[in-house]
Amino acid sequence: MRRFACPNCSNEVHFRNSECVNCNSRLGYVPAWDQMFFAKPGDTQWHDGATVYKACANRQEIFCNWLVEDGVEDEHCLSCRHTLVIPDLSSPENRDHWASLEEAKRRLFYSIQKFGLGVGDLVNAGDTALRFEFKADTLAPDGKTKRVLTGHEHGLITINVAEADDPTREKYRKAMGEPYRTLIGHFRHEVGHYYWDHLVWNTDKLEPYRAIFGDEREDYGEALKRHYENGAPAGWEATHVSSYACAHSWEDFAESWAHYFHIVDGLETAGWYGLDGHTPDAGLNRTPGGWSDAGPYGAAEFRPLMDAWVPLTVAMNAMNRSIGLGDFYPFVLSDTIFAKLEFIHGLIHDRA
Ligand SMILES: [Zn+2]
Ligand SMILES: [Zn+2]
Ligand SMILES: [Zn+2]
Repeated sequence: MRRFACPNCSNEVHFRNSECVNCNSRLGYVPAWDQMFFAKPGDTQWHDGATVYKACANRQEIFCNWLVEDGVEDEHCLSCRHTLVIPDLSSPENRDHWASLEEAKRRLFYSIQKFGLGVGDLVNAGDTALRFEFKADTLAPDGKTKRVLTGHEHGLITINVAEADDPTREKYRKAMGEPYRTLIGHFRHEVGHYYWDHLVWNTDKLEPYRAIFGDEREDYGEALKRHYENGAPAGWEATHVSSYACAHSWEDFAESWAHYFHIVDGLETAGWYGLDGHTPDAGLNRTPGGWSDAGPYGAAEFRPLMDAWVPLTVAMNAMNRSIGLGDFYPFVLSDTIFAKLEFIHGLIHDRA
């Protein structure tokens, strides 16, 4: 994630901020420009020379700080309009969970945009666009809980809003032995399935994919059942980025895809703060040196990313231990895992 400066007073502001704490300007993010805009107190619109922007309709509801170009039919920002179903808001808890999910989802959309990956055309080809539904478990008339399963189906990503409840997610994280179980991690994983459909399936990448991730034609239901019964095989760390990645070829791909997003966004953040060995010689509104203008998101070569990432994680782990926290990055990347990440890097960057 890049750094931002308040366009009114130059104070540092963050991606999630809807107001500058220094000058009280209201802030709004325009994804197409990757910039913060400001509105003076009393103004209802955001101006950028000739262009006028309005707040996303979810600004009041859940603190969405993204803007919509005036004249765009939709009242919602790019990220919010891809959410088709929200939980029942008569529960205040659900509203908080929805807000947390959308905040993580805006980070997802930030990355998607930086990679130049599409999200489909909601208006003209809705059934192939990336869509989200956030649902809560419900009680059936017979008293049984109707569970909502987090998952992906043909571009529709369902997330159980309970994942936004920290104690619940932590319980599952421990039970499943997942070092990273986060909202942004869920989003990055689930869209991995969506991009598999678009970038691998039915393309000349399918055979190279199978050589690296295994054959996805293995029965998916049986594979998951086996995984939940027996767990990952011993020694899985040498070949997979997580134990869940061992469940099925598709899950290996989605886990690796999410991991690649973690690395690139982590490197972008590191670059903006001068933590990646490159000189932080640029102002807050410019990409720091060391990478191409597009930063790690636009890096043509895979190896330089990893050459920057690995020492950074060693340093970050040491930092965390210094203050008594668990490891920042509890992973060891083998050559096999490198090959998976490199394949994903190629998929994202070699598109026609
Ligand atoms: Zn300011
Ligand atoms: Zn929004
Ligand atoms: Zn999955």
